Amino acid sequence: MYSGNALGRYGFPNGHPLGEDRQGAFLAEASARGLDRQVLSCSAARANRAEIERFHTRSYVDHVQHAEACGAEFLDNGDTPVFPGLYEAAAAVVGAGLDGLARVMAGEAHRTFQPIGGLHHARRDGAAGFCVFNDLGVVIETLRAQYGVRRVAYVDIDVHHGDGVFYAYESDPELIFADVHEDGRFLYPGTGQANETGTGKARGTKINIPLAPGAGDHAFSEAWTRVVAHLRQFQPQFFLFQCGADGLEGDPLAHLHYSPQVHARAARSLCHLADEYAAGRLMAFGGGGYNRGNLARAWCAVLRELVST
Ligand SMILES: [Zn+2]
Repeated sequence: MYSGNALGRYGFPNGHPLGEDRQGAFLAEASARGLDRQVLSCSAARANRAEIERFHTRSYVDHVQHAEACGAEFLDNGDTPVFPGLYEAAAAVVGAGLDGLARVMAGEAHRTFQPIGGLHHARRDGAAGFCVFNDLGVVIETLRAQYGVRRVAYVDIDVHHGDGVFYAYESDPELIFADVHEDGRFLYPGTGQANETGTGKARGTKINIPLAPGAGDHAFSEAWTRVVAHLRQFQPQFFLFQCGADGLEGDPLAHLHYSPQVHARAARSLCHLADEYAAGRLMAFGGGGYNRGNLARAWCAVLRELVST
């Protein structure tokens, strides 16, 4: 598990929903449940520019550095504020993902969990929706370029559509994508309709399942059955899991009514699939979640399955 001060600093000031206190809220709950004593606690160096540029454009990385240096207010049109230390914090998130990947590929661990991570809205050339650098995209690029692993599953149960990952790989037939989220007609970023299944040779390798506002565990369970069938069809060699906690009932930014059982079920299921197809290789990232009690319960449910399944 990856946590610590460098990762904890990925949080925005002045009462922003993605504040610096999220990691601490999770760690307190993990400690109360004794989960922290069942995992190897890791920290990692920040990613360097070359690593970040495996996914992002050079001009965008320049933009982030420049925005911080000149004290700009936002990186984008108002969702993602700039603060002192922003670049280093965002690079720490990517660095932890890369360190986790190296350990998994070296056989030192089957599974990793990184609560502060899974920044699925960031595009190759821009910040979006509280996401500066897309750690998931950097891991996918690194899997291909450094390890020769091509057929990668990306599974996202965050309440928001994982648009930064989806559109970066929309035409990539070897990125097996499955995303269950609140219908974009009612929630940011507005994308992820059911007819978005990939383009060209990638058609059919992606599945987007939008749920109506108010949907809960039953609707998720039906969606998840389709996700599992989709993943089995392509037998991925590696699994990435973005387990955002903002689909739980009571999140201040969204409108679904999941219980933490959703996170437990998805994690358990992905552990089994990873064991079956991918020599157990699974990396989980916390993603969104803005009600502190909810994120603590959902992520602990995931971690519990990762250590016990
Ligand atoms: Zn989200």
